[in-house]
Amino acid sequence: MTLIRNVRPYGEDAVDIRITDGRIAEIGHGLTGDDEVVDGGGLVALPGLVDLHTHLREPGREDAETVETGSRAAALGGYTAVHAMANTDPVADTAGVVEQVWRLGQEAGLVDVVPVGAVTVGLGGTQLAELGAMADSAARVRVFSDDGHCVADPALMRRALEYVKALDGVVAQHAEEPRLTVGAQMNEGERSARLGLAGWPAAAEEAVIARDVLLAQHVGARLHVCHVSTAGSVDILRWAKARGVQVTAEVTPHHLLLTDALAETYDPVYKVNPPLRTDADVAALRAGLADGTIDAVATDHAPHAVEDKESEWAAARPGMLGLEQALSIVVQTMVEPGLLDWRGVADRMSVRPAAIGRLETHGRPLAVGEPANLLLLDPAHRATVDPAALASRSRNSPYAGRELPGRVVATFLRGVATVLDGKAVK
Ligand SMILES: [Zn+2]
Repeated sequence: MTLIRNVRPYGEDAVDIRITDGRIAEIGHGLTGDDEVVDGGGLVALPGLVDLHTHLREPGREDAETVETGSRAAALGGYTAVHAMANTDPVADTAGVVEQVWRLGQEAGLVDVVPVGAVTVGLGGTQLAELGAMADSAARVRVFSDDGHCVADPALMRRALEYVKALDGVVAQHAEEPRLTVGAQMNEGERSARLGLAGWPAAAEEAVIARDVLLAQHVGARLHVCHVSTAGSVDILRWAKARGVQVTAEVTPHHLLLTDALAETYDPVYKVNPPLRTDADVAALRAGLADGTIDAVATDHAPHAVEDKESEWAAARPGMLGLEQALSIVVQTMVEPGLLDWRGVADRMSVRPAAIGRLETHGRPLAVGEPANLLLLDPAHRATVDPAALASRSRNSPYAGRELPGRVVATFLRGVATVLDGKAVK
């Protein structure tokens, strides 16, 4: 049994929380007993975070990340569940591979690793993968995505939506019309022209989202849009939701904070897909997250080995780390400016992503009887990000050297501490 003393659920009045048998057993004042005591010291308590979009790189690129190292990074970031994207080697397009990833997550025991299944065989975009077998497997896949690639063929996308509807699943689309982004290196605009880098136009994202919300409405299926990056995409999502389309969307921490001005540095750590956009896009993304048009913050945590990232811009792989700093970025971009309160943070980083992924034991309220998946945050603590100190096996953090607010002091998965005093327990 664990007694967490003097914490503020959702930043509200301080209470004591007793955890017994993996559940919140009691919430009150002046609780006593012979439990193990954790001094909450007025920290903010939130439900354990849920990431819809993590690249754990195992199997295939264990030099960049493993299920275990990525799980540890997630726990340190306050996460209790992460969805592991399917673009591994081999691709997670069969029951066998998703069960392998799920089992590795169980063995690491730091967060619940929830495999995402590929939509198409080998992410090839031509033939549907065995969606039903993955859904029925021990991994219980509900989120299907070819992330890294767009399901560009509209007929195939329609069929995928029809299949996942029957599975109570969702297609998570990486919205990028590939014929509009051939050779693209950064956001298309005045800056890309000046820097002489091929542009990735906003329309390549928006066109696919517009097409897919119409398909989702036609089929009556759920659609989730990965890493929304443009103001126009927010407009289309707002329109679709007003029409009753079952569409949800995510934004990454980096798209909430960083802009394409960083491409001027030619530092490939800022190369990402979709690319960093403009100040106006950042403002629209924050507003969309604040009003719920964008449902969730998802990290798109994308570890890369040094040789894939520390090269000239054009040769570098796109992608950034995100798990360990995501909550800090949300504190800085959304909480401190007053765009979201702590209940809003819980909603966008835990409740809604858990609902999208159909996770029954995550994203639950901090209430008696609920699974004890929670984190304790010191929102006032400020620290400078040192990539060498990260738990991820990779070092491609775009926040290196930045002073950020918010420190995850503790994380509990089913009542067991995975992080204490800001350090991983194992
Ligand atoms: Zn993607």
